[in-house]
Amino acid sequence: MRQTKNTQGACAAPADREIERDARHQCTCCGRTLPLTEFYVNARTGRHDSRCKECRRESSRRQRTKDVMDCRTTGRRRYPVITETADPVLRMALIRRALRTVEEKKRVLKMKNDK
Ligand SMILES: [Zn+2]
Repeated sequence: MRQTKNTQGACAAPADREIERDARHQCTCCGRTLPLTEFYVNARTGRHDSRCKECRRESSRRQRTKDVMDCRTTGRRRYPVITETADPVLRMALIRRALRTVEEKKRVLKMKNDK
């Protein structure tokens, strides 16, 4: 006998959607209980985010600001820049890697154009 899959959540019946419109969810960040429309839905899992849209936006904003701050305060980048690298050995390694990347890109573009 064939077993029926549990379709709960994945494809809600119209009646379930009606219920979902009135459903509320508590944000794990600010603790407010808000309608589900105030939560983003994870495209991969189809489930609502644990943090509300407002908290999610604030978190993203802080993260972006932090990244910029780290770069400015330490004066260091997250990646080495050839023209800012004093060590000649590292500098040459970076140049070689950059050349390989350019050659690879040229090769891929040529293959695309030859098709
Ligand atoms: Zn929140």
